[in-house]
Amino acid sequence: FICTHHDVTVFDANGTEIKGTACLAADGKFSPIRHKLALPTREWSYDQIAFVFNVHHTKPHHNFAYEAFLPKGPFASLPTVDPNVSSIIWTVPTKEALPLKEMDDASFCTILNDTFNILGTLTPTTSRWTYPLSGLLVSKPYKERILLLGDAAHAMHPVAGQGLNVGIGDVIALGDLMQRYRKLGLDMGGVTLFREFSKQRRFDVLAMTFTTDHLVRLFSNHSITLNFMRDQGLKIVDRSPLLKRFFTQKAMGKA
Ligand SMILES: Cc1cc2nc3c(=O)[nH]c(=O)nc-3n(C[C@H](O)[C@H](O)[C@H](O)COP(=O)(O)OP(=O)(O)OC[C@H]3O[C@@H](n4cnc5c(N)ncnc54)[C@H](O)[C@@H]3O)c2cc1C
Repeated sequence: FICTHHDVTVFDANGTEIKGTACLAADGKFSPIRHKLALPTREWSYDQIAFVFNVHHTKPHHNFAYEAFLPKGPFASLPTVDPNVSSIIWTVPTKEALPLKEMDDASFCTILNDTFNILGTLTPTTSRWTYPLSGLLVSKPYKERILLLGDAAHAMHPVAGQGLNVGIGDVIALGDLMQRYRKLGLDMGGVTLFREFSKQRRFDVLAMTFTTDHLVRLFSNHSITLNFMRDQGLKIVDRSPLLKRFFTQKAMGKA
């Protein structure tokens, strides 16, 4: 890409050029554009691997998602349109991932059913995809006429299922801001808008990154005192409709 004072030109893989007032880079966690811009980025590893696959289960899911916070990492089932099929995200420590990945189907199925039994007997219906889990944060996600959005600017652990939601929050905030700038006849692709956007999004992004990071550490901790406090905290939330409502609204991006 080439940036001038007024516009930015991007070249695709075939050399076709696209010119505009701004380049919005939502090219994911491994964002080639972020690397090209050399923006200072904080990255950290959770030393965990997520296995992702679909399962058939003998009991219907009734459109419920489940998450079990196991000592080695969270295990989540997300309902699909088929009442007896869910997507599984099973997090394990990196050192245990390779044997699990290379295990034959029958042994894998046995361990899977020993790990999670809420939905009856589970049978994997797809192959196992693996994702090394890590986080990243770009404190100033813009340069000249290029702005990073979504995972390109902030990637978090999937424990709370919030990565995509935070990215959608970026898009909504940017759309509102661009409309306001357009009405006022201001530059819709410049550093002034990008700076205001980053300021607006900073709290939500930091709060969610901090929350997911601490959830992972809290649930993988082996301290008896901490585990006792965590369990008491969960019981309090479970018994309080007000707190429950607050957390569900927050998770849906409404609070
Ligand atoms: C195991 C796992 C489970 C998750 N579960 C949840 C969940 O339940 N809820 C939730 O909200 N979030 C969840 N997330 C997070 C969510 O997947 C991400 O936050 C979200 O996909 C980020 O969207 P994005 O558009 O920013 O990036 P991506 O989804 O990574 O999309 C980036 C796109 O850019 C494309 N691209 C990259 N480079 C180029 C290029 N040079 N030219 C053209 N295209 C390019 C890529 O092909 C890709 O399609 C999960 C993540 C993982 C790993």
